[in-house]
Amino acid sequence: MNDQRTYDVAIIGAGPAGSFLAYQLSVHGLRVALFEKEKLPRKKTCAGGLSAKISDILPFDITPVIQRKIYGATVSHKFQDAFTKYADKLLISTVDRSDFDYYLVQYAKEKGTHLFDDVRIEDLTSDGDAYILKSDKKEIRCKIAVGADGAQSFLARKISLNPISRSHFGLQTEISLDALRPFDFNTIRLDFGNVRDGYFWVFPKKETASVGVIGRLRDAARLRPHLSDWLKLLGVDPDNVVVHGHPIPHRITHSPVSLDRIFLIGDAAGAADYWTGEGIYNALKTAQMLAGHIAAYFAGDQHALARYEKEMDRETLPDLRSSYHLSRLFNYLSLVAFRAIRNNDYPWDVFCRIMRGERSFSEVQKRLRPHILANKIFNRKSRSR
Ligand SMILES: Cc1cc2nc3c(=O)[nH]c(=O)nc-3n(C[C@H](O)[C@H](O)[C@H](O)COP(=O)(O)OP(=O)(O)OC[C@H]3O[C@@H](n4cnc5c(N)ncnc54)[C@H](O)[C@@H]3O)c2cc1C
Repeated sequence: MNDQRTYDVAIIGAGPAGSFLAYQLSVHGLRVALFEKEKLPRKKTCAGGLSAKISDILPFDITPVIQRKIYGATVSHKFQDAFTKYADKLLISTVDRSDFDYYLVQYAKEKGTHLFDDVRIEDLTSDGDAYILKSDKKEIRCKIAVGADGAQSFLARKISLNPISRSHFGLQTEISLDALRPFDFNTIRLDFGNVRDGYFWVFPKKETASVGVIGRLRDAARLRPHLSDWLKLLGVDPDNVVVHGHPIPHRITHSPVSLDRIFLIGDAAGAADYWTGEGIYNALKTAQMLAGHIAAYFAGDQHALARYEKEMDRETLPDLRSSYHLSRLFNYLSLVAFRAIRNNDYPWDVFCRIMRGERSFSEVQKRLRPHILANKIFNRKSRSR
C-alpha cells in the first residue's frame, strides 16, 4: 500500500530517540511518519535506568512510568567487600522499557505523528526531490529521513555511514525481587573488577530487577559465564533464567552522522556513554539537537541541517571521549578506584553529580590532576554506611 503524501520527516525506529524526535517535530507542526518494525508496545533489552538529568531534557512528566526511585548504590569489587553509599537527591529512576518507550510514542501521536508499527523499513531510494522508504507493506515519500533504528541501524548501513568506533555488549535478565538475596532495593548494586571495561549491575524496579553485565563486544562470549557467577552470588539459579543481550555503540572519534538530508540519532549514531553504557539520555539529547535544526530548516534556514553534525561533535564527543578514557583508567586501577570510592566521599559525590547533570565526564577529566585529586581524596571524611 502506497501513501501518496510526502512527509516532511520519516523516522525509522520508535525507541526513545525516534519517538522524542517525532514528538518535537510534530509540536513544530511538521508532517512526521514514525516507523517501528515491532508491534508496539515492544520489549527492549535494557536495565531501564534513567539518570536524574533526564528531567532536564524531557518537557513532560514521566512519573506514571517510573517504577522505582534510586537514592544510592551498593558497590563491590570482584564480588567482595560490598558497601553502600547514599545520596541526598534522586540519582536514577528505573522504568520498564516497553512502558517508557510506548509512553513517549503516545506523546508523539497526540501531537500528530503518524505511527506505523509492525512495519520494518527495508529500503531507501531517492527520486531526486524526495526519499522513498520501503517495507513489504508500505512505501512512503519524505523530504528528510532519520535513522533512529538502534545499534544495528539499517539506515546507517544503507548509506554506508559507520559512526561507531567502539562497542560494548550488554547481557541481562529480569528477576523477581522476592528471588534475590535481599539488599536495600532503593539502591542499585554494582560490581567492578571482574570484567574488562565493564561491570555487573542490579537495577531494582517495582517487583522485578534487571540483573546484568556489560563488557567489551569482543569479549561477548565470556559474559554469559560471568553473568551466571553474578546470579549465583545474588541467590539465583542461572540455569533457570532467560537472558537477552544487545550491542551498545559508542562514537568517540569524529565520523559522519549525516548524508544530504539523511541523519542518524541515538544508538544509530553511537551516542551511548562508554563507561556506564547509558544510552537513553543521549538518545533523547541527539533527538533534541536534530529537532531544532530540522525545525529551523523548515522555517527557511537553508544552512540549519549542516549544523547537526557540528553540534553532535561539540556536545557529545568530548564527553564520550572522556568517559572512554576515565573508564579505561578506572578499570585498570579497579581495586584502587574501588577503595577510593569506599573510603572517601569525593568520587561518590562526582558520580552523583554526573547522574544529576551537574558535572560532565569531560569536566571530571580536566579536573583530574593528581595533586588536586589527592587533596580532595585525603581531606574529606567518609560518609559511607
Ligand atoms: C543490556 C542493556 C542494558 C542497558 N541499560 C541501559 C540503562 O539502564 N540505561 C540507559 O540509558 N541505557 C541502557 N542501555 C542502552 C539503551 O538501551 C540504548 O542506548 C537505547 O535504547 C537507545 O535508544 P534508541 O532510541 O537510539 O534505540 P532503540 O531503543 O534501540 O530503538 C530503535 C528502534 O528501532 C527499531 N528498528 C530497528 N530497525 C528498524 C527498521 N528497519 N524498521 C523499523 N524499525 C526498526 C527497533 O525495533 C527499535 O524499537 C542498555 C543496553 C543494553 C543492551
